[in-house]
Amino acid sequence: MPSFESRVHGCLLGGALGDSLGYAVEFDDVATIRSRFGAAGLTSFGQLDGGSHFSDDTQMTLYTVDGLVEALEWANDGVAADETACLWLAYLRWLATQGVALPASAPAPQPRWIDSQEVLRHRRHPGKACLSGLATGQMGTKFRPVNPESKGCGTVMRSAPFGLVPHISEAAVYKLSTDAASLTHGHPSARQSAGAFSVLVHKVTAGSDVRTAAEHALSVVSALPDPDPELLGRLREALELSSTGTLLSPEELTAQLGEGWVAEEALAVGLYAVLATAAEAQRDPAAHFRQAIAVALNHSGDSDSTASIAGNILGALHGEEALPSDWLEALEAPEVIRGMAQRLIAVTVG
Ligand SMILES: [Mg+2]
Repeated sequence: MPSFESRVHGCLLGGALGDSLGYAVEFDDVATIRSRFGAAGLTSFGQLDGGSHFSDDTQMTLYTVDGLVEALEWANDGVAADETACLWLAYLRWLATQGVALPASAPAPQPRWIDSQEVLRHRRHPGKACLSGLATGQMGTKFRPVNPESKGCGTVMRSAPFGLVPHISEAAVYKLSTDAASLTHGHPSARQSAGAFSVLVHKVTAGSDVRTAAEHALSVVSALPDPDPELLGRLREALELSSTGTLLSPEELTAQLGEGWVAEEALAVGLYAVLATAAEAQRDPAAHFRQAIAVALNHSGDSDSTASIAGNILGALHGEEALPSDWLEALEAPEVIRGMAQRLIAVTVG
């Protein structure tokens, strides 16, 4: 069994690997992907001549880690800080990295280590609702939403780290994740997809297999007083379609589960990719990682977010030992990602 430390590094690095490979084809349909990379599509960093970059998915995920680390630093000092306010301050600092001026009504956060990392200041197609929700200067909540109709995948793709905080209850994981989702997106599916994803990562990090964790996340959503029907439907389809023993083609994948631009579709596609290739995991976790990421990104949808979500799950499941070493060599700024993993470990089990 991988150690907790290995799962934290695996989750953050694995997500960044999926994001980086997927970002190379984020706006390409599957026909374009095949014409660029051959019939099997993009399956390895070696096919990219010009190197790779991770995108807003990884940038925001690292800022989620930073918001959690700040809240935990206060807690370790005996001060009860509002965790969601710490997340909001972190996302406001992320907004500043994207060249957006903070509104006068917003607090001026103190700079932290992460804010000095130049690689996080590049604009890599940040999500519109993430930008606009924060730019209001209002702290969005479930009951006072910013972007009430937005259900883009910008919530779910940044929410793996909530599942990496040890020694807190599942209810606390769900609440932290959905409250942080409300900082930018108001639609119930955007909130609940983030919460379901964080609960799934929490369960996997505690040693569960992915199917059990996914079925559990589905049961958590089902038990809500107001479960989002589209999220329930997508999660059920992902579980069902991945148990047939036959992989869907890229065309079937997006026809059945969606293109992943919205939250519940991104979660369903990323989850499907991990589940449908899980037979490989017994034999070789690194092969599972490669195969699942290839399924997650080769389609006419939001390839970097779906592969980022798959990579987060795979890394939490198998630990960093399962990450392909040639892929890690191609990853941009691994020291920044590892630096954030170390900070989370230091304030939790360190
Ligand atoms: Mg992206």
